[in-house]
Amino acid sequence: MQGQYQPGEEENKNTKAPEGYFDESFDIFRNFVPPTIDKIMAIILGIESSCDETSAAICIDGEIYANVIATQEMHAAFGGVVPELASRAHQQNIVPVVEQALAEAKIGKKDLDAVAFTRGPGLLGSLLVGTSFAKGLALALDIPLIDINHMQAHILAHFIEDPKPSFPFICLTVSGGHTQIVLVRDYFEMELLGQTLDDAAGEAFDKTAKILQLPYPGGPLIDRYAKTGNKEAFPFPEPRIPGLDFSFSGLKTSILYFVRDKVKEDPDFINNNLPDICASVQSRIVSILLNKLRQAAQETGIREISIAGGVSANSYLRSELFNLGQQEGWNVYIPKFEYCTDNAAMIAMAGYFKYLAKDFADQQIEPLARWN
Ligand code: ADP
Ligand code: MG
Repeated sequence: MQGQYQPGEEENKNTKAPEGYFDESFDIFRNFVPPTIDKIMAIILGIESSCDETSAAICIDGEIYANVIATQEMHAAFGGVVPELASRAHQQNIVPVVEQALAEAKIGKKDLDAVAFTRGPGLLGSLLVGTSFAKGLALALDIPLIDINHMQAHILAHFIEDPKPSFPFICLTVSGGHTQIVLVRDYFEMELLGQTLDDAAGEAFDKTAKILQLPYPGGPLIDRYAKTGNKEAFPFPEPRIPGLDFSFSGLKTSILYFVRDKVKEDPDFINNNLPDICASVQSRIVSILLNKLRQAAQETGIREISIAGGVSANSYLRSELFNLGQQEGWNVYIPKFEYCTDNAAMIAMAGYFKYLAKDFADQQIEPLARWN
């Protein structure tokens, strides 16, 4: 099924802007092919710049025609995202990324009906680049500006491809900065049922990777090493947190102390046991997430269940959710890899729904580092 998880699907094929593509003389109108204008109601440009991905996407009448993502790789050397470097890289990337998206969708700037951008939450300096660019472009083209909440967009990524969930549904949104269980009643009517009290699930992956001396972002690497490991090798504790909230900081501390003690006994402990440690940690993070998701489904009686955000790219979470869904009789929705981590397709899609509702922003709008 298109857009749906397939067991065995494993590689994350995130798009990266090809090197050397951005030629100064590149003319987006050179091969311009006019779209079938009479059928088209809305062409939306989406812009994402909340963290370390600069992305632009084109949504035409609810379908994605381009989703260009430039990933900033220089942060790996620092073990995490450096905000100043991120905003500078967004400034360099934003124009070529937008031009490539327009070229891939075979449209010109003048065909755009609205510009949607991530207003927050995220890194303020990074958000400022996308916000300022979107404001400038909307003003120059005299078209509406649409502000988008990044967390809502992660959820609305489920409407990019079939099969689409029906309302109401539950979404477990798990990323580098957030872990939330959201009850989604309508496109923009969402209720937060639970969230993390400390670290996010993605942070738990990334901080474990740091303890294991793996580079940032560690989530995909832990996923890869875990494939050949024994998940029962090292049992880590499951925290008892009331309601539908989460906590990952205790787990992080227990991993830290466990590894420190083992390395004292055997300096090569990490090297000799990497797949088993990764599989054990991953299995605990996933069981924490899925136990709360099962509780949310029981409490609400909802059987339309989805996941979103960067950690939903985790292959073990995807396969375990698929199995749990079969066991519980849920309809499970798992986004394609490219719509899990940060991307502008989800911003353009959310922008399309706001465009239909004529919900526009004005030129005074400012980015929000925190936005619930
Ligand atoms: P944010 O919006 O908070 O920057 P993203 O939605 O881009 O987060 O997700 C990034 C997070 O997802 C990182 O913490 C990264 O380690 C994690 N992640 C990405 N792929 C995987 C994977 N395969 N397994 C586990 N975590 C992953
Ligand atoms: Mg994100």
